Amino acid sequence: MKRLVLLGGGHAHVKVLTDLAERPLAGWDVHLVSPYRRQIYSGMLPGWIAGHYPIEACAIALDALAADARVKFHESAALGVDAADNEITCADGTRLNFDLLSINTGPLPAINQLPGCVEHALPIRPIEAFVAAWPELVDRMLDRCRRFELAILGAGAAGVELAFAAQYRAMVDGWSHVRITLVGSGGLPLDGSPDRMRRQVGRLLAQRGVAWLGERRALGLVAGQINFERGPAQRFDACLVVTGASAPAWPRTGGLATDEQGFIRVRDTLQSVSHPRIFAVGDVAAYAAARPKAGVYAVKAAPVLAENLRAVCEGRAPLPWTPQQRALYLLSTGNRNALASWGRWSIGGGWVWKWKDRIDRGFMRRCGTDT
Ligand SMILES: Cc1cc2nc3c(=O)[nH]c(=O)nc-3n(C[C@H](O)[C@H](O)[C@H](O)COP(=O)(O)OP(=O)(O)OC[C@H]3O[C@@H](n4cnc5c(N)ncnc54)[C@H](O)[C@@H]3O)c2cc1C
Repeated sequence: MKRLVLLGGGHAHVKVLTDLAERPLAGWDVHLVSPYRRQIYSGMLPGWIAGHYPIEACAIALDALAADARVKFHESAALGVDAADNEITCADGTRLNFDLLSINTGPLPAINQLPGCVEHALPIRPIEAFVAAWPELVDRMLDRCRRFELAILGAGAAGVELAFAAQYRAMVDGWSHVRITLVGSGGLPLDGSPDRMRRQVGRLLAQRGVAWLGERRALGLVAGQINFERGPAQRFDACLVVTGASAPAWPRTGGLATDEQGFIRVRDTLQSVSHPRIFAVGDVAAYAAARPKAGVYAVKAAPVLAENLRAVCEGRAPLPWTPQQRALYLLSTGNRNALASWGRWSIGGGWVWKWKDRIDRGFMRRCGTDT
């Protein structure tokens, strides 16, 4: 029997698993390697912080999906890949050789570039570690009688959603002593989004009492303080870091062709440009047509990956795919409201949140999570 290894339980591999459950691959022994038995859906994480969803509603049971698909589940993380010898090494010491490998391991938090981050801040990834740490942080906030400064470093979509979610939770649960500050390097949050949406987010933050600290490029963190290239330091009692995506080192050291940042370069078929027996999708991949790191592209690549893995396993040619130019972004703003953007167009309101909620719950239902 030949062996297909799925590395990581990201958006696209969830689809591959549901596809395999419906149509098993004859003659192939399939393995899934993931450090956690479940995958927390990042699109619903701000809703968990805001108190809209229990964590179970945001969790995809990877082990159950694997069992349904008759895929062997390894609860471990890959530490290395040997692209020449077709072998991966896992954190628990397991070595798995493969005839075909698919990598959907997502990004690492961009914290190593920022001195002091690892010691003094709480990164949003790995999401499981964040989910474990958040209740302790809430206890710390509640134990404090005087003002508690919560800084959120990074004002992309994730940072903005976290700020609104934490503010909503603080309002509903009466944490009036918690002051939230969102810190970003641009004049307004959401660099790269439509100007109208950025201005709208700026206004909403002010209305909700979230302080916006723009045009601040962080140099590093020391205990209780973020230092910037210019301007006074920002004091904090807790700091969440959402400064973007970085690549793991092991694809490059394992011999795979990567871009300058270390993301795996793939052809339009999602195969590595250097090793066609290795596929990569989602944030860990650098597509031929460059796109921002966003879950939406991993979701769109998912059916293509499922089909192309099947094609190669069955001796057929994989099909090309080009990620769409523009994507729909739905950004929750805490109080069961959301903003939508498509290219330069944007709109907001309670109905946008209901729309996002329906899409998110629908996605979770298809992944076997009953919300
Ligand atoms: C709070 C928040 C909100 C967001 N909201 C949106 C949004 O609304 N829209 C949007 O488009 N994007 C959003 N994003 C970005 C989105 O989360 C990522 O772009 C997306 O998760 C990338 O998907 P992926 O499938 O590549 O990997 P991931 O979803 O990160 O999944 C990777 C999986 O691989 C596993 N893994 C990691 N390392 C290893 C390893 N070494 N070995 C084995 N397994 C490994 C992980 O445990 C995980 O299960 C948000 C991000 C955050 C943090």
